Amino acid sequence: MKINYEEIGLKVGLEVHQQLETEHKLFCSCKNMLEEKVVGDFFRKLRPTKSELGEYDPAALMEFSRNRTYIYQITPNTSCLVELDEEPPHMINREAVEIALACALLMNSRIVDEIHVMRKEVIDGSNTTGFQRTAIVALGGFVVDGNDKVEIQTITLEEDSCRKIEEDQKKIVYRLDRQGIPLIEIATAPQIKDPEQARRIAYRIGTLVYSTGKARRILGSIRQDINLSISRGAKTEIKGVQELSMIPKVIELEIQRQLRLLELKEILNTRNVPRPSKTFFIVTDLFADTQSKLVRRHLDSGDSVILLPLKKMKGLLGFELQPNRRFASELADYVRSWTRLQGLLHSDELPGYGITEEEVKRLMDYAKLEDEDAFILFMGPKEECIAATDIVIERINMAFEKIPEETRNVATDGTTRFARSRPGSARMYVETDIPPLKITPEFIEKIRSNLPLKIEDRLAILQTKYSLNQQLAQELIDNQSEGLFEKIVSIGVKPSIAATTLTQTLKYLKRSGISVENLTENHFISVFKALNDGKIAKESIEIILAEWSKTPSQDLDHLIDRLNLRLMSVNEIERAISQILEENLEVLKNSKERVFDQAMKLVMSRLRGRADASEVTKILKTKLDSFMKSNI
Ligand SMILES: [Zn+2]
Repeated sequence: MKINYEEIGLKVGLEVHQQLETEHKLFCSCKNMLEEKVVGDFFRKLRPTKSELGEYDPAALMEFSRNRTYIYQITPNTSCLVELDEEPPHMINREAVEIALACALLMNSRIVDEIHVMRKEVIDGSNTTGFQRTAIVALGGFVVDGNDKVEIQTITLEEDSCRKIEEDQKKIVYRLDRQGIPLIEIATAPQIKDPEQARRIAYRIGTLVYSTGKARRILGSIRQDINLSISRGAKTEIKGVQELSMIPKVIELEIQRQLRLLELKEILNTRNVPRPSKTFFIVTDLFADTQSKLVRRHLDSGDSVILLPLKKMKGLLGFELQPNRRFASELADYVRSWTRLQGLLHSDELPGYGITEEEVKRLMDYAKLEDEDAFILFMGPKEECIAATDIVIERINMAFEKIPEETRNVATDGTTRFARSRPGSARMYVETDIPPLKITPEFIEKIRSNLPLKIEDRLAILQTKYSLNQQLAQELIDNQSEGLFEKIVSIGVKPSIAATTLTQTLKYLKRSGISVENLTENHFISVFKALNDGKIAKESIEIILAEWSKTPSQDLDHLIDRLNLRLMSVNEIERAISQILEENLEVLKNSKERVFDQAMKLVMSRLRGRADASEVTKILKTKLDSFMKSNI
């Protein structure tokens, strides 16, 4: 079905997150990198605190109810007392501020007069302090997409959270290396009109940040959130989309989910389905002789089985919202979020899981259910199951009225899972440990005068100044090797050779499993100098780079000799040609009018990689005639 996005009132906004490649972290002098070495750990537990109004944050309570322990791994070079929350944060990293301001200028945003650091409460333990430090650096601005302008709302500098190493029901293990790495967050207004435009805007913002040369680049990967709403639906926040190409799919699937939930609401109300009652049945004994391994496993560990009847809801629990995601999947998400139960079973999928038709009938009879009715089974500790019935009843009641506003996590197939209810607004406090940073007009001017060119200008320069085709130019920009390209060209190398080597040749070598990341700028410049000095042929560049990747510390001259790739002098070529002609006199005599091609073939098969083909042609032309004449 083709959806008219304007008709359904689709509004999409993006939050693009990008790690910045600074020397050190945002609020301390630790190195900005990830680290495998761990030198110790410590643990914490979450305690919810009341707000000033004496209320608990429901999201915090939810996390608290899971009663998990957070374990933090200490790293030697990337954590200090600041990450451990034993020492106040240092002044905000000026290098990160400069990068963020450059991005702000590139997006025509209004830079704030003073940068104030705030604390944003986080409740999943991903930060040792219990909050994330964040600072708005600019407001407003826009990016262009064809005839559309999408407004930027805010440009923010934030500290990244800890790296999650492992997670289970009882604990989460975090590593401190990532906590405090500077992130830039660029949020657009909800003005994006369709799924494809969202992808283009995300790409556009990404390339603007990359153009500062200070964005940490992991090829093809991004971290961003999508805000989405349709007029009759709800505002949803989707977290952690990893691939640019997934954005349209995630949006389409969320639209589908909301439209289907609206259909479900319609059905619930037109069929006069009664609201679920709080009556439930403990049906553990009915499974005493069950053959179901799943149920048996629960019974053996002392669990209860509780049945929640749902009048006139047959077929609605299995109602599909997204591919392989049903209304019951949403209910199960809620149950998993607030209890320690793994999920639920529902009548639309039974018989199944080893539960027989006869057992289903027994359950229906026991709960006095009719054919048009449905039920849910919970298995686990009795109190948890009872809590789960309340949670499910509440979620079903919502389905009669509206789509709940939620924050959802994205799965690899583009479908989403409930993560938490959307709080009105994240709780923010002023970070009293860090004084505000004044941004003077002089500071802004300094950044403006060093501003990188916009991508389209850089493309134009590569195409006009160096006569590169658009694809090569784009590839140089995409793999961030423009700077190296210009250095190589400045020593007199033909632009097309330099560009092809830095893009196609490297791509080919990488695909062949060669570790080209071992090569530095100096390696490339040396190889091209050797080419320029006539030491090697351009055909040898690929072979040398491949070999050098394996032993990057090797001396280039030795390498060239070892691979037998040194170009011969004119004298040497002349001598070699004379010798080859002598040896092949008979073959050449028989070649008649094709004698030149034949001679060229013979010579090149011997000298390839060591003599330039045009040089060989020139010498062969002058030699061959007289040689043939003297041998008739
Ligand atoms: Zn530190």
